[in-house]
Amino acid sequence: MLKVVKFGGSSLADADHFRKAAEIVKAESSRHYVVPSAPGKRFKDDDKVTDLLYSCYDSANLGENIDDAFEKIENRYRDIIKGLGISLSLEDEFQVIRDSFMHKAGRDYAASRGEYLNGLIMAAYLDCEFVDAADVIFFREDGTFDAERTNTILGQYLREHDRAVIPGFYGSMPNDTIKTFSRGGSDITGSIVARATLCDVYENWTDVSGFMMADPRVVDNPMPIDVITYRELRELAYMGAGVLHEEAIFPVRFAGIPINIRNTNDPTAAGTMIVPDAPVGDRIVTGIAGKKGFSVITVDKELMNTEIGFGRRLLSVLERERINFEHLPSGIDTMSVVVATPVLQGRRDRIIDEICDMLNPDSIHIEDHLALVAVVGRGMKAAKGTAARVFTSISEADVNIKMIDQGSSELNIIVGVKDDDFEKTMRAIYNEFVGG
Ligand code: ASP
Repeated sequence: MLKVVKFGGSSLADADHFRKAAEIVKAESSRHYVVPSAPGKRFKDDDKVTDLLYSCYDSANLGENIDDAFEKIENRYRDIIKGLGISLSLEDEFQVIRDSFMHKAGRDYAASRGEYLNGLIMAAYLDCEFVDAADVIFFREDGTFDAERTNTILGQYLREHDRAVIPGFYGSMPNDTIKTFSRGGSDITGSIVARATLCDVYENWTDVSGFMMADPRVVDNPMPIDVITYRELRELAYMGAGVLHEEAIFPVRFAGIPINIRNTNDPTAAGTMIVPDAPVGDRIVTGIAGKKGFSVITVDKELMNTEIGFGRRLLSVLERERINFEHLPSGIDTMSVVVATPVLQGRRDRIIDEICDMLNPDSIHIEDHLALVAVVGRGMKAAKGTAARVFTSISEADVNIKMIDQGSSELNIIVGVKDDDFEKTMRAIYNEFVGG
């Protein structure tokens, strides 16, 4: 049995959490490779070290004095080292980083130091090899992640090292500068290491015991999800279910490796298993997730259905504007495109003009304040009447459905409702399928 374990920032925020994380690593001899994040928040209004690094670097870039800001960062690490009682000194590292800030080494470099320093501490505390992610995780010239080169070099390196700590979140560009993934990207590093080692399980340790069936800020005490497939998770994550970085599933999915989301503060809880495939469990619905803040562009034109290329021309306007769309619900003489509202900012009139030029429609309008709610479950394909239950529960909550979309995979039903009805809709669906 071989496991890759990744710890999130809240699991490494201070010495106490560090100790818990190290105990978890040592509790099973199968836990060979450790991917740490940067120290996260210790309490609600605390700062994440990554955020401190970004703002400190920005100040340095503006030529401002960074003495206090930089010392605050150093102290986070000094406190951890002192609390752990190890003899490691990071003072030389601090000096190098500080100098690099003054020499404008780049924002990504700055942010990556959070994970880098935490990795050095973790390796010292566990007494195992430290591998700088810059030497084994690679990006291409255009900034995209180079999966194959990374997999070959990282895989080879790790085959030669039985145990190692690989800091999350960053890698290197062909010109040797540092590049980070997007925020929360240590999850991606964990997944890349899991793929490279072909491990049995990728354990992702965080501060919750896995995924819940709905957002606990909206639904009281939602049930945990024990098992979820990659595809279901993708649907839920896309619609806003947090916990894991959206892109983290791709490397492990490629290799068919399960991800186990676990809670550092409750290590006996089984957490959520994310697997390539799973039989349908007791529930038809695996989870419900949603987001507010969408807009619908609706174009009407009589006899649209007879006009060849209508849809292509409509979408070509968005393509030219480099806008991606979420859904494309259409009727016989009407076609709508659902987009995230912020992407329209400052260019609504231009988009309307372009669509008028391209399509000569009878009418066109943009409606804002749409929320999308996705009901996801691998059991939905075989169960008749699921859609009826979703819609009935929403109508009984006195909510008007503005849009319906069932993915052709039959894995999800997505409904659009007014932003104001979002919470009500989530609760109504949850109560229908799980009980209130
Ligand atoms: N430290 C980075 C962030 O705060 C990456 C991570 O924690 O995964 O986004």
